[in-house]
Amino acid sequence: MKLKKLEVVGFKSFLDKTSIVFPPGISAIVGPNGCGKSNIVDALRWVMGEQSVKQLRGKAMEDVIFAGTNGRPPINMTEVSVILANDNGSIPEEFKEYSEIMVTRRLFRSGESNYFINKQPCRLKDVHNLFMGSGMGARTYAVIQQGKIGAITDSSPEDRRMFIEEAAGISRFKTRKIETMRKLDDTNKNLVRVLDILGEVKRQIETLKRQAKKAELSKKLQERARKLDLRISFEEYDGFTREIERVNSILQGLNDADLQHTSKLQQLVTVVEEIKLKRLRKNEEISLKKSEAFEVRRTIDKKENDIAHMQKDLERLTDEIHHLGGSRKELEEKNSRILSEMGQARLESDKITTEMESLKASLREKQLASQQAREALSHLQA
Ligand code: ATP
Repeated sequence: MKLKKLEVVGFKSFLDKTSIVFPPGISAIVGPNGCGKSNIVDALRWVMGEQSVKQLRGKAMEDVIFAGTNGRPPINMTEVSVILANDNGSIPEEFKEYSEIMVTRRLFRSGESNYFINKQPCRLKDVHNLFMGSGMGARTYAVIQQGKIGAITDSSPEDRRMFIEEAAGISRFKTRKIETMRKLDDTNKNLVRVLDILGEVKRQIETLKRQAKKAELSKKLQERARKLDLRISFEEYDGFTREIERVNSILQGLNDADLQHTSKLQQLVTVVEEIKLKRLRKNEEISLKKSEAFEVRRTIDKKENDIAHMQKDLERLTDEIHHLGGSRKELEEKNSRILSEMGQARLESDKITTEMESLKASLREKQLASQQAREALSHLQA
């Protein structure tokens, strides 16, 4: 297989779609430091299925997606395709008829990743199988990084043997041999398991034979039980039929009784209706009587109230009478005292009157004597 073309879009510093063609002969990519030459080698490794982020000179796999530059925003997806010429027959059998093989790898910033061979979706394992033994591949001598030639010349005999086997195209067969040996080992383990299962199954067959005999016997007994059940069922059927007839005649009797009861019930309903009507009237009368009783009660309460008031007045008046009795006694005593004082005073008055009478008589005598004296005087004066 020979490298024909590399198509890169959105990979590291390659934002726009870029095609790098490798015609027959020697090709060289030149440019100043940091212009992106090693990014082309990274793209080649990446599309051939490189999984080591370190080998791709990043910290995370998404570092291979264009992260933006001055004036150009980052993008979310990268895609790299490598086109190989199928010219030396080192390609696996299933791709023999193709003259060109295109391998594509796509990665989204979300982590979603896809592989395609000739635009058909495939697994990473299919990509590895394609390159195995062809001399190409992400970790073979086909890609030697800047300053890493020593890694091949100074490699250990085992690693060098790996490179030689890869160049000879036998690594694919070796890998297949390892895979086949592993499958053979798995098959042997499965065989041992199958033999174990076989032994177990034989033991189970014996048990199953015994169980089958028991099942046969059980089936015969079940058949007999079924026939006996059938006979019992017939007997029971006859019994039930007789019972049903008997119950039917009872039912008929009950139906007749039910009819009579229904008509009686009708009569009773009428009576009940009348009683209800009477009860309604009685209730009306009772409520009238109740309102009258209520009125009487109210009057009684009022009267009782009045009586209580009068009782209180009576008590008050009794107290007053009692009090006035005391006062009268006092007044009577006072009166008798006054009467005796009046008697005394009358006596004194009589005495004074007598004295006055005597004084008056004396006065009259004196007046008379005075009169006579005055007359004697006037006579004398005359
Ligand atoms: P040197 O000769 O020194 O090895 P070089 O020409 O091989 O340099 P690279 O190392 O391949 O250059 O490229 C480095 C350039 O790629 C840097 O300018 C870096 O900014 C740019 N670059 C790397 N990863 C990304 C990315 N994810 N998005 C945008 N630019 C990137």
